[in-house]
Amino acid sequence: MLKNRRVEMVEVGPRDGLQNESTIVSTVDKAELIRRAIAYGVRRIEVTSFVNPRRVPQLADAEELVTMLPERGDVTYIGLVLNRRGAERALATGRIDELGAVCVTSDSFGIRNQGQTSDESLAAAMEIVALAKQAGRGGQITIATAFGCPFEGEVAIDRVVDMAKRAADAMPREIALADTIGVGAPAQVADMVGRVREAIGNLPVRVHFHNTRGTGLANVWAAVNAGAATVDASLGGLGGCPFAPGAAGNVPTEDVVYLLERCGVSTGLALPQVVEAAAWLTEAMDRPLPAMVSKAPGFPMDFRPFGDQAPKA
Ligand code: ZN
Repeated sequence: MLKNRRVEMVEVGPRDGLQNESTIVSTVDKAELIRRAIAYGVRRIEVTSFVNPRRVPQLADAEELVTMLPERGDVTYIGLVLNRRGAERALATGRIDELGAVCVTSDSFGIRNQGQTSDESLAAAMEIVALAKQAGRGGQITIATAFGCPFEGEVAIDRVVDMAKRAADAMPREIALADTIGVGAPAQVADMVGRVREAIGNLPVRVHFHNTRGTGLANVWAAVNAGAATVDASLGGLGGCPFAPGAAGNVPTEDVVYLLERCGVSTGLALPQVVEAAAWLTEAMDRPLPAMVSKAPGFPMDFRPFGDQAPKA
């Protein structure tokens, strides 16, 4: 039984999509990606992260990029931060509407990813939400590696539910469940979204999937059916390093829009414009991107995404 007839989509291409790309994408192209995302209907965009530029060189231009964001009252620009220092940098720009904070389910991943244990990462995330609120901005909390950890394997659902419950005390805009390494499966997703929703009362659940093992779209569908309010996606399925075997991108925006809209769930996004933007991005990245809908013939038949310039390969 479909619970949601409408979901909100967050475009994460400019941050999660690009952060593993070895070739540095110009700030102008990043701004263009954001401009196009707004044009195809997205109203919440993860634009960059304020982390150590030596650790993520691709996003070293965070401050410069945010000066190029279109001034729009109807679009929420999210900046990802991992600690107080990042939060202060993001807030100092005056252009970030919402801080995205990330906590992790295991100490092993936390130490490697952000130099924090799991509990420390949760405390930091809650502090970040408080800082955002003090500055009159929004704050949300993502539980990364919610469906599995690259170092510790299976993650107990009780652990995730407990973290979500504690995170909810900070009154973030939402709790996001992220399958950072793309190991989740639909039954697990349905179970976890349902249990987390029960645990956090009125707070919405957002989901973030990677297509590493081909379960990404199925997981989106399971999450939406279980009542997730917001779905992350990345234009073209960008993400993951092309030189790292096994790394894979986020679920592609165009594939998620096709799936949901064809099932009667409104995303607020216009598929023809998403596909057009994917064609632009493919050219900008100079390689084929993983998304499937933007490579396929339009359907219904009168929908011709690439017009006369349909890509040959
Ligand atoms: Zn991700």
